[in-house]
Amino acid sequence: MTDINIPRWFPLGKRSGEMGLGEMLQVAKRRVDFLFSYTDVEDANNIGHDPIIGNLSLCITSAVSDDAYFFHWLSETEADAFEYLLKKSPYTEQIAVMRFLYGDLIVGLSNVSSIINLDSDFIIRELSTVKRIKKTDMYQVASTFSEFNIIASKFEHAYKIIKRGVGFVVRGWVITFYVELLRTAKWVFQKRLEEKIRKIKKKIQKSMDKLEAYRVFAKEILSYWRGKRTALMPQKSSIVLFGKKVWQKSELFPPCSRLLFDQFLATGYIPHGDRLQLGLFLKALGMPVEEQLKFWYRAVDNVGLGWEEFMKKGGYYIRHIYGLEGSRKDYSAPKCDTIISKYFCPFARMDFSALKKALKKINPKITNEELEEIHNLCLLGDYKKACGIFLQSIIGKKTRPVVISHPVQYVRTLWKIMVRRRRKYEKEAQSLS
Ligand code: SF4
Repeated sequence: MTDINIPRWFPLGKRSGEMGLGEMLQVAKRRVDFLFSYTDVEDANNIGHDPIIGNLSLCITSAVSDDAYFFHWLSETEADAFEYLLKKSPYTEQIAVMRFLYGDLIVGLSNVSSIINLDSDFIIRELSTVKRIKKTDMYQVASTFSEFNIIASKFEHAYKIIKRGVGFVVRGWVITFYVELLRTAKWVFQKRLEEKIRKIKKKIQKSMDKLEAYRVFAKEILSYWRGKRTALMPQKSSIVLFGKKVWQKSELFPPCSRLLFDQFLATGYIPHGDRLQLGLFLKALGMPVEEQLKFWYRAVDNVGLGWEEFMKKGGYYIRHIYGLEGSRKDYSAPKCDTIISKYFCPFARMDFSALKKALKKINPKITNEELEEIHNLCLLGDYKKACGIFLQSIIGKKTRPVVISHPVQYVRTLWKIMVRRRRKYEKEAQSLS
């Protein structure tokens, strides 16, 4: 039975009844339009097309076409739109969506305590250890902020919470805060969507008589999507920052890239995922492939390796991200949401005392008030806002706080302000001379 509180915008539900491919084609195109503009939508439940049919049509397109680029675009963009709309939805609708994604869910400390038969005090004690805050504060946080409502989900759906170290397991249940479940919801949604595409693929392969019709359908959607993409996506040249060698100015880097960069220079080592994150970021700043090859050649695992040998190993991967090897795809730097869930964002990954130390090292002038604000935002999971406050601590309070959504946006903002200030200073110096 479908939960009546599931909002209409949620695209993974089921529809009964029949619809021809011709009709679905129109809905699919409206879905593509929507996915390119979901942040402009005023009423998510009234978007001019059926989200379930729209999503299904695009999943069929992905399954039939086998186009890897379209698959990744669909999976990433549907997940981004999902997260965006979920956060804007009322609490009851959010819970209904969570139940759809996570199955069994127990909401609220007293329910968790009575259904799993656990002492409330024990639950609070365990969660205060997880969050590294005092038990008394934990009681207050859990009863004051709805984001910190206590929630339990079955382990098979919520193991990622344990992997991230933000909950604990008892009798097959993962006990955590509502905000943590909300944070992994995008990942669960994405997995469900990808699973749906795989299932459709298997199903279509069995009905060979309809395959040709599906192929024509997918071809039409792909061509519509490509046209839209070419018209709407920003041109690559827009991220070249004033033609300067910005990649050489680590003082402009956001904390994620700055910490990885400094760690690599100091130790010659960072793990593989961090290398990919930093490599794509440096590429996005315009670092030529030759410079990047020289940069990574100094890694400790390349010690004793000749240049030729390095080019066959680490060098191959670097050329790969520039689209010069393998599938020849020109990879882009991940945005903050992706970094927060899959890579290294210090606001999401570091405990507060280590984060405080790291931020103070980058900006020794940061005030305790700003650090406190960053701490509160991190507790609420608002890492991009916390990053904006950190940027503001560097550029000064006269500017409005920015919510950071991409590491390159951070660099661009800081760079523009520095250039503006330098010009102003030079003008003033000229008028004095
Ligand atoms: Fe980097 Fe974005 Fe995290 Fe800031 S919010 S540190 S730019 S990933």
